[in-house]
Amino acid sequence: MPNAPRPADTSVVAEGSGLTNLLGFTREELEAWVEGLGEKAFRGRQLFKWVHQHGATEFQAMTSLAKSLRDQLGGRAELRELPILRDHQSADGTRKWLLDAGQGNAIETVYIPEDDRGTLCVSSQAGCTVACGFCSTGHQGFARNLTTAEIIGQVRMANRLLDPSGRRAAVSNVVFMGMGEPLLNYEPVLAALRILLDDHGYGLSRRKVTVSTSGVVPIMERLAAECPVALAVSLHAPNDSLRNSLVPLNKKYPLAELLAACRVYLQSGPRDFITFEYVMLEDVNDSQDHAHELIHLVEKARLHCKLNLIPFNPFPASGFRRSPAERVRQFAQTLQAAGIVTTVRKTRGDDIDAACGQLAGDIQDRTLIRLRRLDAKAEVPALGSHTTSSAQHA
Ligand code: SAH
Ligand code: SF4
Repeated sequence: MPNAPRPADTSVVAEGSGLTNLLGFTREELEAWVEGLGEKAFRGRQLFKWVHQHGATEFQAMTSLAKSLRDQLGGRAELRELPILRDHQSADGTRKWLLDAGQGNAIETVYIPEDDRGTLCVSSQAGCTVACGFCSTGHQGFARNLTTAEIIGQVRMANRLLDPSGRRAAVSNVVFMGMGEPLLNYEPVLAALRILLDDHGYGLSRRKVTVSTSGVVPIMERLAAECPVALAVSLHAPNDSLRNSLVPLNKKYPLAELLAACRVYLQSGPRDFITFEYVMLEDVNDSQDHAHELIHLVEKARLHCKLNLIPFNPFPASGFRRSPAERVRQFAQTLQAAGIVTTVRKTRGDDIDAACGQLAGDIQDRTLIRLRRLDAKAEVPALGSHTTSSAQHA
């Protein structure tokens, strides 16, 4: 696996305690760190396995390491994940965690079990700068980037809590469709991807890890070159003027550039198609004219793609409505008739208000966290509903 050097992840050493958070290291970085303690590199590999494959939470439990090394680790290192604020389980098995990102910010991680896989939807930022009007993360503004440790910690936490015995990794697929724009937090996301793909880490294949982007063109090119995983692109509109209004980043990277970057991506990506996400907004982008324009757009671009239509998850103040099911069906039918593979994302976890891409409404969460501080018995307000697609998470 290519392993370009990255700027030091300053977050690995905790302020105050001075302990190094080992969750922030790729395998190579952990090996180098362990060598710095005077140990052989392969001890770093063993440690990496304990951390990510066994989900060990204590150094003394790492029985294949010498007692002296375990003692050293205890004095210098930690395995720190974001604290859990809420842990909800839905009747359909979907599970949602609300995690405390500090200073009144919360992020969410959602697990979606299906017959043949378990998909984890992870967050890459607390908030988002792209500010798409239909997205509740976009509405709340940007708080901060998550570190590698905080991103990978979501996967580690899910595996551990979903199977405390540590025998079976519940997470078989990871999608970067939680809060944030992963390609605007590239270095930490890249390191997290490497840990996910590492055979001594989570050992996931490139096809089972999907990065979803609103279209950060230059970084798509870097990802293609440095760590090509499956790519989903949030399209949402068939022309620039509509997309400018829905995804403001389009003003910087318009459709022609975005589609060209998708074509380049396909040359190194693990799949022979790009997944386009298209959130269905009533009377905004869901007409038959839009469907025909979309067909024309992808045909002209000569781009092998799949369309994933997402029912809009409404939230207060969005100003948008979910397209009626019949309208979505007709839209899908028109695309399919033109030979474009189209799926409609099914809604999951409604009863726990889990949502991919419109998670942890900030106002609500800030309120929640304040309330928690004031009164431990505060009730959680509703946050939306979660959607996922079997086709996309394949
Ligand atoms: N920032 C990245 C990844 C996170 S959003 C991106 O935009 O692709 C993941 C997906 O959820 C995106 O396709 C996004 O457009 C979609 N999404 C955001 N808000 C939504 C909402 N309210 N209802 C349905 N899908 C939404
Ligand atoms: Fe950010 Fe994606 Fe939400 Fe747009 S849809 S605001 S890019 S998280």
